[in-house]
Amino acid sequence: MAADLAIVGARVRTLDPKRPFARAVAIRGGTIVAVGDDVRAACDARTEVLDARGAALIPGLVDSHIHPFWGAEVARGVDLRGCASPAEALERLRAAEPQRGWLFAWGLDYDVAPTAAAIGEACGGAAVFVRLADLHTALASPRALQLAHVTGKETFADTSAVVVDAAGVPTGELRESAGDLVLRAGPKLRWPQLRARHAEVLRELNALGLTGGHMMDGDLGTLEMLRELEGSGELTMRLRHPFWITPETSDEQIEHLLTLKDVRGRLWRGGVVKFFADGVIDAGTAWLEAPDTHGESITPFWPDPERMAAVMTRFAEAGFQLATHTIGDAAARFTLGAYLRAGAAPGVRHRLEHLEAIPDDLVHSIPRAGVIASMQPVHVNAIRPDGTGVWNERLGPERAARAFRMRDLLDAGALLTLGSDWPVADADPRRGLAAAQLRDVVPSQALTASEALAGYTTAPALVAGDEWTGRIREGLRADLTGLAVDPVDAPAAELPDNPVWLTVVAGRVVHQGPATR
Ligand SMILES: [Zn+2]
Repeated sequence: MAADLAIVGARVRTLDPKRPFARAVAIRGGTIVAVGDDVRAACDARTEVLDARGAALIPGLVDSHIHPFWGAEVARGVDLRGCASPAEALERLRAAEPQRGWLFAWGLDYDVAPTAAAIGEACGGAAVFVRLADLHTALASPRALQLAHVTGKETFADTSAVVVDAAGVPTGELRESAGDLVLRAGPKLRWPQLRARHAEVLRELNALGLTGGHMMDGDLGTLEMLRELEGSGELTMRLRHPFWITPETSDEQIEHLLTLKDVRGRLWRGGVVKFFADGVIDAGTAWLEAPDTHGESITPFWPDPERMAAVMTRFAEAGFQLATHTIGDAAARFTLGAYLRAGAAPGVRHRLEHLEAIPDDLVHSIPRAGVIASMQPVHVNAIRPDGTGVWNERLGPERAARAFRMRDLLDAGALLTLGSDWPVADADPRRGLAAAQLRDVVPSQALTASEALAGYTTAPALVAGDEWTGRIREGLRADLTGLAVDPVDAPAAELPDNPVWLTVVAGRVVHQGPATR
């Protein structure tokens, strides 16, 4: 049987040490069947042939930390990314039209956040819900608080909080899942809209050259969404689906989720559980070994971290991979210890997410434990290189100098996998590849072009225990990304403008565009 698709005339970078470069690739039934300078022997008259005209073809880019479904829901309303001042944020909100009395916004930077009261005033008293860029904090206008009946402090099983002033009145700042109190009172997207929005997001990600992603949130609802999208042919990315376990997940739910380790479809599979060991530095909710300059960021997300460790052990023993949000050094240290106690099934390596400022000993003990470092280069761009801004100010100069130690972790032998954390940061892998190489913040931690590319290709495959993706070789899955210029040869600063001319997932063309700017 002949190939159904062939890509010829390409500069193919295979990442296969046995044949690093080629000019053509032939695909049949989702699998690569020929790689070489000439693949005509694998083709016949029915083979669809795409001529790359000298453009590059690389293994499909995979985002190792992404929230495609959650992002589809939260990235709605007014886009406040890139606002330079509180006044500009208020200006953008003022220009928007509330719907059914509600206005949603997202992407606001902590450094330029107006007060919730000012937001309410700017929007003529509408119910406004603004998510800050990292999604760990929200600002709710007085009307939104009123509709949600939030009138004072609330108690949560974790570090979520309704922030109140000296008189006990909510300021509108809602930390972590406290935002849900207000969201529950607002209008929700219905299933058909939600589903259409999800399919749209996947296509947008394909257009950026992404063929796969390791999702970092998930529940029984997202599982259902994956099944539906796959059934209708709208699942256009290869995804790993985790169950998100919180302090509120009941023993009964845990029992049920433990039985679902092997859930999978054609393009997606489970087998992962996601935990949060802490919050974020900017909101004072990270878990640091010493308090930040405000005396905050000293509490774990789980009030009883030993319970988190015990739940981790149950999932690890059932064969799951563990992934944990660990921004602070105390969070990383505790979780690493919990992983060592939990053990891992054969072939499974647990992962630590973010690792924003870790000390030397952890840089070495993470690879020694065989644990994966999962980091997001675009997050580095959110930190100001001049030492100002909330992140630097809260950590102080000594700890800020340990920002995102990608180079040190690689040199210490860690498996470093890269992603975006979209919608918290820009999903564009070309920006991620560039940000990993061009660092104003602790420039000594920069990666080479090849190391950065490995973080989006071969590393995610290893992390997923998937020997069928990450390279271009006969017998592997046909997940491919076509860029105008080979990202290893292109100057890093030009990567964001490097056109994505082709995205192929399991042999199917999911995006095609011009190879010129
Ligand atoms: Zn995340």
